[in-house]
Amino acid sequence: MDIPRIFNVTESAHRIHNPFTSEKYATLGAVLRLEPETRVLDLGSGSGEMLCTWARDHKITGLGVDMSTVFHKQAELRAKELGVTDRVRFIHADAAGYIADEKVGVAACVGATWIGGGVAGTIELLAKSLSPEGIILIGEPYWLKLPPTEDIAKNCDATAIADFLMLPELIESFEALGYDVVEMVLADLEGWDRYSAAMWLTMRKWLKANPDDDFAPEIRAHLTSEPKRYVTYTREYVGWGVFALMAR
Ligand code: SAH
Repeated sequence: MDIPRIFNVTESAHRIHNPFTSEKYATLGAVLRLEPETRVLDLGSGSGEMLCTWARDHKITGLGVDMSTVFHKQAELRAKELGVTDRVRFIHADAAGYIADEKVGVAACVGATWIGGGVAGTIELLAKSLSPEGIILIGEPYWLKLPPTEDIAKNCDATAIADFLMLPELIESFEALGYDVVEMVLADLEGWDRYSAAMWLTMRKWLKANPDDDFAPEIRAHLTSEPKRYVTYTREYVGWGVFALMAR
């Protein structure tokens, strides 16, 4: 079981697999006012940076579920590196339908809401693991400005304009599901550059190490087209943030 290989290659050197930086995760942990021993569930936990650093800094306990073999291994290494293996656990599995055995104070899906079939389905899934007064965290893209054409949306790595909302509509959509938006931390361009531009050097190094791999032509083509595509489209049109929700 694994995610498409392109991500395991292009994001193999990433600690955070979205436009957040370690500073943004630190801000998010602080503004949520996490109490020690709060249980945090993270669906699509990637390389485990959120759970591991919050375990170190806020003494939370965490359970992360992720389908990537590469990122799952990195998450376990990161827990060892930060000395939090007694506080966090990472499961290599498909998180679709995953419900925690014990209710959690924070249930998160940060940049992987396809796991629940979209934002609404993911909120519904996370709510099944959440204790009363618990907080749901959703990391999601939104349009900074509406793409004038469907082609431009596709160049932003969306399948259609309808994939994302503008920020006010995204906030409204949470409210329409019966949630208060109680906090939010938004990514900035520096975070976008860290996420996207870091892939380019990773691809370049991978090509040097794997010149005869079947996947090499695809990675070569991607490295050639990505920098210009990214600065022309994603960087101009797509915002990203983590939204903290509490049921009304
Ligand atoms: N929240 C992490 C990772 C976000 S990227 C971070 O902040 O770094 C999206 C993640 O979802 C990737 O780690 C990918 O491996 C994982 N993923 C994709 N589909 C999944 C699924 N069905 N079940 C579990 N994890 C999945």
